[in-house]
Amino acid sequence: MIYLDNHATTCCDPRVIDAMLPWLTDNFGNPSSTSHEPGRVALDAVTRATASISMAIDAPLDSIVYTSGATESNNLAIKGVLRHPRNKKRHFITVSTEHHAVLDIADELEREGFRVTRVPALPNGNASAGIIDLDRLAESIDDDTALVSVMWANNEVGSITPMKQVAEICHSKGALLHSDATQAVGRIPIDVCQEDVDLVSASAHKFYGPKGIGFLVVGNGHRRVRLKPELVGGGQQAGLRSGTLNPAGIMAMATALQIYGENAAEEDVRTKELRDELFMRLNSQIEGLKLNGPPLTEGRRLPGNLNLQLPSIEGESWMAATPTVAFSSGSACSSSSPEPSHVLTAMGLTESQARQSVRFGIGRFNTPEEIEDASCLLVKAYRHLVG
Ligand code: PMP
Repeated sequence: MIYLDNHATTCCDPRVIDAMLPWLTDNFGNPSSTSHEPGRVALDAVTRATASISMAIDAPLDSIVYTSGATESNNLAIKGVLRHPRNKKRHFITVSTEHHAVLDIADELEREGFRVTRVPALPNGNASAGIIDLDRLAESIDDDTALVSVMWANNEVGSITPMKQVAEICHSKGALLHSDATQAVGRIPIDVCQEDVDLVSASAHKFYGPKGIGFLVVGNGHRRVRLKPELVGGGQQAGLRSGTLNPAGIMAMATALQIYGENAAEEDVRTKELRDELFMRLNSQIEGLKLNGPPLTEGRRLPGNLNLQLPSIEGESWMAATPTVAFSSGSACSSSSPEPSHVLTAMGLTESQARQSVRFGIGRFNTPEEIEDASCLLVKAYRHLVG
């Protein structure tokens, strides 16, 4: 199997597993039970991991809240701000190309009586395709806007949002800014303070860490962020997210981010080369193939992302005809649903163009040989399908 679906999830880096295992065996203490040595050792590990994570993304030390992953982080951030008893503002803004882990929260808030605006993204063909339309954002914000949520990078077409510009627009109108950075953390450099984003969600399994652990950055030191907790109980993490901390997962996530940080520039070049090679090979053999999303060259696209529109067949058929290459027809969470990708239709593709589109995610463990083999298998299957 050639795995080219690194936007859905990534394989745990063996160095991450090495860093994680001792916290499940020898050092299994509960970091909240510090009346004894095992608990204090666990707390010390979590404290060191937090320092390392906050440094890696330039977020304040006390801003990191551990969660089970980005879905939970998004829920805590968005519902937390809107539903806080001291929040009097009733308007929430997000983008039509967000992941369902944000869009479904918007729907829920709307049902509760909040006002929701879904700002469009720039259409396919634009150099910033898939990125929020900044003019429309500026027009949508008003004095009643509590929070704006804009993803840092898109999980289907890989477009990268200019977060600093978005932050300036939001803050000039007194709104807070949340970003679902699930596809950005550990793939492109992230600077929370400099980009001035107030809340940031991430999941470790997207950057070669394990599943079931993630974080939410709460506040970057520039303005106050008040959250109503989603989970109540033991009062861990300053009451923002009760439940026993997961030191093994936290150590793993910190190690995964550290590995990325140490190799970021090199990994960026290597991943782009493999992605471009895959595109070049498919594009030269399949007439009429189109690229969805921003161009491959201008730095507005995640290094490993490729989203392609086939001239005649459905993505699902191509996937079925190429069972030894793992790629997808949209986001993992919607791949069991027969609907065409809402991201692609929001970018102006017709339903059939969206169904004729597929997503590849190239990652750290892919090799040039795999790209060569995968493109041969894909071209062969395509030719077979079109007869
Ligand atoms: N947001 C984005 C942009 C994603 O790509 C994903 C994972 N597909 C999520 C949120 C949800 O992440 P998790 O399932 O780890 O909670």
